[in-house]
Amino acid sequence: MRIVFFGPPGSGKGTQAKLLANELNILHLSTGDILREKLSGNDTLSIKLREIMSSGNLVSDEVLNQIIANKLMSEECSNGFILDGYPRTVPQSDFLLSFFKTNSLNLDIIFNFKIDFKVVEERIILRSKQEQRSDDNIDVIKTRLDKYIEETYPVSQFFSQNFSQNFFTIDASQEVYKIQKELINIIKKAEK
Ligand code: AMP
Repeated sequence: MRIVFFGPPGSGKGTQAKLLANELNILHLSTGDILREKLSGNDTLSIKLREIMSSGNLVSDEVLNQIIANKLMSEECSNGFILDGYPRTVPQSDFLLSFFKTNSLNLDIIFNFKIDFKVVEERIILRSKQEQRSDDNIDVIKTRLDKYIEETYPVSQFFSQNFSQNFFTIDASQEVYKIQKELINIIKKAEK
């Protein structure tokens, strides 16, 4: 099963993707997690990534598309995957769709996590205290949300129009277990 998650930072999609990937025994492919693993080095890429990510801006499409192409070709993805945090821009979306086409792959489900931006702000502030993520402080929240609205929201709209049969909007303000149940129910129905 191949799944894409859309939703603003702090909408809980990472938590849900992790739980769902476990349940379905497929790979949770979080581009944020992959990039964070590269932050500790002292090479040029690591330095650049630290600068971009700590400001809340987006890393270049070139870097992201390369990461995704490598991952999707790997054995880890043979059973399926959940894309969490990708595609985030129109060029990334174009890249992904052409990758699917070239490799004769179908996209099974798209989940769109919808939440009030005020709730998101509160969640991110709380998370910054718990996880001490350098990109979760109040100064960069606005940039991250703005990037979502400017760059990613139009991509989610494109998917809602072009994959309307497989596109499901989820109320992300609900409790974790309720959302998880909803996702699983949708998947079960889609499998029939
Ligand atoms: P996330 O954990 O998904 O919120 O991602 C954390 C940060 O990693 C983002 O604020 C971006 O700087 C970077 N990032 C993650 N995924 C992407 C992507 N698909 N395109 C560009 N930048 C990304």
